[in-house]
Amino acid sequence: MTSLSPLLKQATPVVVDTALGSWINADDGKRYLDFTSGIGVTSTGHCHPDVVAAAREQTGKIIHAQYTTVMHKPLLELTEKLTGVLPAGLDSVYYANSGSESIEASIRLARMATGRPNIIAFHGGFHGRTVAAASLTTAGTKFRSGFSPIMGGVQIAPFPYAFRYGWDEDTAVDFALRELDYLLKSISSPEDTAGFIIEPVLGDGGYLPTPPRFLEGVRERADRIGAVLIIDEVQAGVGRTGKFWGHEYSAAKPDILITAKGLASGFPISAMAAGEDLMAKGWPGSQGGTYGGNAVAAAAAVATLGVVEREGLVENARVRGDQLRAGLEKLQASRPFMGDVRGLGLMQAVEFVDEDGEPDAPAAAAVQQAAVDQGLLLLTCGALGNVVRIIPALVATEAEIDSGLSRFEGALDAVRDVSH
Ligand code: PMP
Repeated sequence: MTSLSPLLKQATPVVVDTALGSWINADDGKRYLDFTSGIGVTSTGHCHPDVVAAAREQTGKIIHAQYTTVMHKPLLELTEKLTGVLPAGLDSVYYANSGSESIEASIRLARMATGRPNIIAFHGGFHGRTVAAASLTTAGTKFRSGFSPIMGGVQIAPFPYAFRYGWDEDTAVDFALRELDYLLKSISSPEDTAGFIIEPVLGDGGYLPTPPRFLEGVRERADRIGAVLIIDEVQAGVGRTGKFWGHEYSAAKPDILITAKGLASGFPISAMAAGEDLMAKGWPGSQGGTYGGNAVAAAAAVATLGVVEREGLVENARVRGDQLRAGLEKLQASRPFMGDVRGLGLMQAVEFVDEDGEPDAPAAAAVQQAAVDQGLLLLTCGALGNVVRIIPALVATEAEIDSGLSRFEGALDAVRDVSH
């Protein structure tokens, strides 16, 4: 009998039957509050009626037209819609199916535009699992061990992970910027450096918001040496952080912005946006793929952006994010194993530690498992696996956040005795 590959090992026993909004109905009759959102994808909640209607309608018109042969209207509409939300100057958009593919596209574009080989990424960053994207990824050894050699021309610079260093944020930022300068002098000279790639909030690396001064410092160095700044908004974009783009917490602007996940509420589509001059440094045929910018996915993205705007979901992410954060901090006050509570908007996390303040991955895994028993779905993350991330849909209500918090408390209490 054919079976699912062990590569697809599941963290929960849940098999979904139907889902709506923040809720998943499993095929065994149980109901779960979904604070994973398909890894930050189902931004408008599961099966938002407007997204469902747009996808249904588009499916009856045309499902697929390959965009370098025949253009379709949803992609033109989506491009027009993105104009309203992309940072000024990023007026040229390219489409693919997944975050990794658009990350790959950005690496090629940065190299083609500068004629330089090296990309500098940051420790704990996650940019995908294709070989090039995995080469930029240091959010855990499992993402890149065992299939070397990975892509060359990548340097990894320290990220200001203040909590782990036991420093305040300013000290961590000063250190990381000094290390970056050192790297630019000793390893990857400006003449060799095509670009920098960074997330506004490290995602799989542990839900660490990038300090604004650090992002601005990276921007400054990119300008100084004529390199390209790629901001990876795959997980943080489209309202997740309480601003439309996560980088808006800083004054830094990207040369290339990558978005995916929340863009189409679950339909696979990703986008790379850049200025027209920069985009023109590539050439037709150098990028693209058979399914990129699929018509149904593009229609779902147009509908998603409509819902985000009409229902004020960026604002909701901020307000509900504050509620979630306050609730988590309250739980943390009496639980030393909740070492750090952090995040932006509806991208919140708890870093678990042992009695010595060292990373406690078994505690994070135990909380995730115990949460399933409470009817709450959560994800772990972090380069050392000791972080639980909490990613409600952007449509989450006050009552749903409260319900999630009390289920989370139940899970914490169920594991506290075994982890301490
Ligand atoms: N970049 C970031 C910041 C991500 O979070 C992810 C997915 N977790 C990716 C890139 C890769 O996206 P995908 O899985 O769609 O290839």
